[in-house]
Amino acid sequence: MSNGVMEVKVYNNLTRKKETFVPKTEGKVKFYSCGPTTYDLAHIGNARAFVVGDLFNRILKALGYDVTFVRNFTDVDDKIIEAAKKRDIDPLIHSNEFIKECLTDMASLNLSLPTHTPKVSETIPEIIKMIQTLIDKGFAYVANDGEVLYSVEKFKEYGKLSKKDLDGLEHGIRVEVDKKKRHPSDFVLWKPAKPNENLSWDSPWGQGRPGWHIECSAMALKYLGETIDLHHGGVDLIFPHHENEIAQSEAANGSPFCGYWCHNEFLNFGKEKMSKSLGNVITIRAFVEKFGGEILRQMLVSVQYRQRMDWNKEAVTNAINDLSRIHEFILEVKNQKVGDAQVVGDIELEAITNTINVFKSDLSNDFNVTNALSHFFNFIRDQRRDYLSKDKVLDKNWQKAVLAVVDFMKVSVGCVYDDPSALLAKLNIARSKVSDDEVAAEAKLTPEQIEALIAKRKAAKASKDFKTADEVRMQLKNSKVALMDHPDGTVSWKYE
Ligand code: AMP
Ligand code: ZN
Repeated sequence: MSNGVMEVKVYNNLTRKKETFVPKTEGKVKFYSCGPTTYDLAHIGNARAFVVGDLFNRILKALGYDVTFVRNFTDVDDKIIEAAKKRDIDPLIHSNEFIKECLTDMASLNLSLPTHTPKVSETIPEIIKMIQTLIDKGFAYVANDGEVLYSVEKFKEYGKLSKKDLDGLEHGIRVEVDKKKRHPSDFVLWKPAKPNENLSWDSPWGQGRPGWHIECSAMALKYLGETIDLHHGGVDLIFPHHENEIAQSEAANGSPFCGYWCHNEFLNFGKEKMSKSLGNVITIRAFVEKFGGEILRQMLVSVQYRQRMDWNKEAVTNAINDLSRIHEFILEVKNQKVGDAQVVGDIELEAITNTINVFKSDLSNDFNVTNALSHFFNFIRDQRRDYLSKDKVLDKNWQKAVLAVVDFMKVSVGCVYDDPSALLAKLNIARSKVSDDEVAAEAKLTPEQIEALIAKRKAAKASKDFKTADEVRMQLKNSKVALMDHPDGTVSWKYE
């Protein structure tokens, strides 16, 4: 502990080691977390990333740090254009609708608010400026059609986060090499507008829109400055997204981009990562409507962020039981008869208060919420065994000390809620809904979705795009849908 700030250790993916976290300015943390692409409702795999970002923010604050936290919204993207086209509306109207939906979901997960939540559509001048700097410094080039590409060979440290080298990458690339690119791994910074797309801005390279990676570099610079302390996202973002952020920011700013990179592991369903493209998702909205956001949050905070976790009946049941234990205890403590009694000695009171330091030490060890929760449950067990009693009057100070411990968990982990009675009633209803069928049914593809995928596979086969056809077959298989191909070319299906 120095200057009221507790020393924190984090597993840094840049060095692949657990290290002491030393922010550039003592006591202050500049923290960036990659936010969602808002083309549809977010799923509970995304929720894991949101909750982990929130935990980093809450925990660092609870340990005394002054945190500036940025989480962006990607509101400019191919998937958004595609979805808006289907609805025949403006892409930004579409993405704004889903930003609002996402904010509703985030509130139901009890997420603390970031300091800034920038959108790509509101950061275009900064993005253009950064791309121009990269061109001026020789790190980017303009192709004939107005596309601007980043030249990975110019950035000598390319691959330092993902531990990939450019030669290895070249060999690994199976798709046909894009002739415009000087190296197959060069990535797009600015895309020229296509004729039927109405989501573009003026730029020195013509009408167009930014590629995905540049937005985070530009937003981090705008809100946090050239060098940030902590960067977070899911493990799927390490390559290429975060590797490319480093290449862009360090080349443009001429200074180190970020000291510590922390990534959350996946939430899986069955044996696969939960993801839209695999078709095995359950939306946050569906989960919350059925079980409640408190249960989803509890399920997500209870597994250390670097461990894979499975979404299944046991995970939901455990979360319900954990929340019940916590909130039954809070009610018992609040209902305990207290007065000026002196039943609990000073040393005992000190031991209760000291529990907060045990939690702090768990949380400062690579944000280990799992250990903090396990110590919290021990604490609950001990208070029940040693003090709580229907027949006795206990000291007011005992109640105050216990509630201060509870309050620390509320602030740092966000797992304690204001109305325990209402929550317990909700948990009882949720408990009655947990069955294998109910849990799994949410992730099932609807017959309409299945028919659409079968049509996509058929079209892919017809155009000899066997890669896509295979991917669709896998996606259906992962969603437990069996296909039967018939000699006359038709395909029927059934749930496995
Ligand atoms: P996206 O909107 O796909 O860019 O994802 C938003 C965030 O959710 C990113 O940090 C992803 O890494 C993360 N994410 C996506 N799917 C999962 C999953 N199944 N488990 C954990 N995190 C995920
Ligand atoms: Zn990002």
